[in-house]
Amino acid sequence: MSFKVAIIGRPNVGKSTLFNRLVGKRIALVDDQPGVTRDRREGDGRLGDLKFIVIDTAGLEEAAPDALETRMKAQTDRAIEEAHVCLFMIDGRVGVMPEDEKFGAALRASGKPVVLLVNKTEGKGLEGVYESYGLGLGEPIAVSAEHGEGMAEIYTALQPIHDSLNLKEVENERLDWDDPLKPLRVAIVGRPNAGKSTLVNQMIGDERMLTGPEAGITRDSIAIDWTWSGPDRDWPVKLHDTAGLRRKARVQEKLEKLSVADTLRAIRFAEVVILMLDADMALEKQDLQIADLALQEGRALVLVANKWDKVDDRQQALNDLRERVDRLLPQAPGLPIVTLSALTGRNVDRLMPVVTKVYVDWNAKVKTSDLNVWLEDATSRHPPPAVKGRRIKIRYIAQTKTRPPTFVAHSQRAEELPESYRRYLMNGIREAFDLPAVPIRLLFRSQK
Ligand code: GDP
Ligand code: GDP
Repeated sequence: MSFKVAIIGRPNVGKSTLFNRLVGKRIALVDDQPGVTRDRREGDGRLGDLKFIVIDTAGLEEAAPDALETRMKAQTDRAIEEAHVCLFMIDGRVGVMPEDEKFGAALRASGKPVVLLVNKTEGKGLEGVYESYGLGLGEPIAVSAEHGEGMAEIYTALQPIHDSLNLKEVENERLDWDDPLKPLRVAIVGRPNAGKSTLVNQMIGDERMLTGPEAGITRDSIAIDWTWSGPDRDWPVKLHDTAGLRRKARVQEKLEKLSVADTLRAIRFAEVVILMLDADMALEKQDLQIADLALQEGRALVLVANKWDKVDDRQQALNDLRERVDRLLPQAPGLPIVTLSALTGRNVDRLMPVVTKVYVDWNAKVKTSDLNVWLEDATSRHPPPAVKGRRIKIRYIAQTKTRPPTFVAHSQRAEELPESYRRYLMNGIREAFDLPAVPIRLLFRSQK
């Protein structure tokens, strides 16, 4: 899969100018005819040795004025969703405008990595740079899209993000659970003291084998190669053990609070994320944040309720936890919960069967014909709503990607489809094709 970079910002800040510079073709702009609505453009971008697809959301100002707000929002949301990283651009000469703050809030909420660019800073415009710190999106980069200034800094910001994504591996993988030699990448994450180290010891015991640094993870992080003997076959597993870091540094670090950066790195490394919860205080704010991160990153997620040996009324505790999980993490209904005791070893053997099952679902590929039969049925049972007196018709759906399963529906006026209807379709796909728990992406393309 290619590295995707979206350029986000309000009209006139210079998005198209940057797009043209990154793509290196001036033709794109010249070609545009005034008054023609264009959804957005994509081009092959390049900075040094870094290649990527640039998504430009500019050109929305030409849309019908009444639909402008909605269209802009829908376009931006879609671009953010599809991108691995967003270049958020403001105009350094006019400073931070209320509209910039709206974009900024949307970007923060998305959880996607953001690189803040303050444009038009050749010669002047530095006030805008200082002001932009107030957006809470980190260190701004002063650029001039027109004059090509700041490109090296953009490269320096994008490069580590690109490297952390392991995109090459993803590209080669597809149905790689069929490949008995390819290790399944698993990360065990959770708050300090949840029992991560104890679990790793219980699962792996003396087989532990420390390997060298992994590309894209911290230099001193630890990956363990291990083979799980499943009922049907052996599964090579590469385990990213975030607790291992602390084990090395011992007591002192134990006091430190959870490092979000480490956890995020572990999540990005992984295909399946195991989130360890302490049965005593399961699913508190930090646990939810980690679960959210994993799902936003599109990872398959398994919850482990550890220290189950300390729980008195197990049935009640499990019901409570199930209810909380479904309510607080509605984006992936039915997330698997494995209750176990890492300390005594009880039920630890239940974990890997669940991990491999969600992994297989995460790789699922649904046939286009089956999807469209389902779509026909779903839309006739519960037709899309009429907006402004006209029904929206959804014409066609296909799965464009696995890991996580990603579907694209083609529809007229897709941006006007209400969120509730999108959710109806998403949940329909889950049910019809038996994909509970794994994150699913459903995107809409507008057709004229
Ligand atoms: P978009 O609508 O956000 O895509 O913005 P455009 O790329 O169309 O740029 C809007 C205006 O800002 C145009 O007149 C550009 O020539 C101008 N512009 C873009 N980048 C720069 C820059 O780095 N410096 C200056 N001074 N003007 C710029
Ligand atoms: P980490 O910080 O997530 O790696 O947590 P550790 O594995 O170091 O465990 C933290 C503490 O919880 C240790 O004192 C463990 O002995 C204890 N612990 C871990 N798993 C269990 C369990 O299943 N039951 C009980 N009662 N204690 C556990």
